[in-house]
Amino acid sequence: MSKFLGKRAKQEPYVYGEQPKDKKYIKINTNENPYGPSPKALKLLNESNWGILSLYSDPTSKEITEAISDFYNVSPNKVYVGNSSDEVLSFSWLAFFDKGDTIVYPDITYSFYTVFSKLYDITENIVSLNEDFSMNLDGMSEVEAKGIVITNPNAPTGIALSLDEIECFLKRNSNKLVIVDEAYIDFGSESAVNLIDKYDNLLVVQTFSKSRSLAGLRVGFALGNEELINGLKVIKDQFNPYTLDAISNLVGAEAVKDKEYFDITRNKIIETREWFKKELYKIGYEGTDSKANFLFVKHPKISGKFIFEELRNRGILVRYFGKNRIEEYLRISIGTQEEMEKVLKEMKEIAK
Ligand SMILES: *Cc1c(COP(=O)(O)O)cnc(C)c1O
Repeated sequence: MSKFLGKRAKQEPYVYGEQPKDKKYIKINTNENPYGPSPKALKLLNESNWGILSLYSDPTSKEITEAISDFYNVSPNKVYVGNSSDEVLSFSWLAFFDKGDTIVYPDITYSFYTVFSKLYDITENIVSLNEDFSMNLDGMSEVEAKGIVITNPNAPTGIALSLDEIECFLKRNSNKLVIVDEAYIDFGSESAVNLIDKYDNLLVVQTFSKSRSLAGLRVGFALGNEELINGLKVIKDQFNPYTLDAISNLVGAEAVKDKEYFDITRNKIIETREWFKKELYKIGYEGTDSKANFLFVKHPKISGKFIFEELRNRGILVRYFGKNRIEEYLRISIGTQEEMEKVLKEMKEIAK
């Protein structure tokens, strides 16, 4: 190891789901969306000549910011758009937490949070989910902290909190910043976006990677009151003023405007999820009530690792975490109906 590395370069980074090239898999391991981006967005991408790429991109990302502002009916100064929600979350750690501050999140949640806390030297306080994987809202509220992160629906459990539960939580923790990561909100649960004017401690973070099928474009955004949003802008302008490239700004805006395609595709995923869940339960699998574009399931008699490996041998890639409390579980992203029929067939064989 080079003697020139600083401590941050020796820390443990986020472990991403594999993107193998050895053969063609049914790839349902990273919660990508099988339906592809909005055709209107792709048309713009294909038919523009992109001569503007010789110029720096717009540091205010005007087009996409306005499209999101129209979509949610909030003013543009309450919208911050960044190069993925991972980046928006990372900037949130920088904007709202100083060394010595404490940030709270569950033991089983998006594994990037702990990476950010270590990178920026923010103290984490981990509150275990309840036995049934529901969020321990009382436990999290009782910790003295600067802020709390809630993933809603949670990942990888898929369990969602109701808007009432979120609102009570915001009231109860009015002196803490509550970041609600809504990466999977469009698959059947209710966004807290409409609460941003009422609660100055709420920051909602979303991504284009799942429900908009644009994981490769790298676009994420935050919604919150103007002061919080300005905090994120100040961080961006100390880091890289042009986080969003010119293509993402315009193509992303076009995708947001295509509400019809968005609704059709997310509803297809919801339908397939509910069908797949019902069929899996019939053959002995069990799991959580997921409101995301994945299921979180196990088999009471077969180990999670075995099912994962068997599926991999059969050309189906799912996510296996092998972590404490969830060793037996698999996270299975919802592909097309046709893909999930093939997956069901193999999972049936494995359960025999
Ligand atoms: C996928 C995911 C993200 C990251 O989304 P990107 O915009 O692709 O970086 C953030 N939070 C959660 C909970 C996710 O599952």
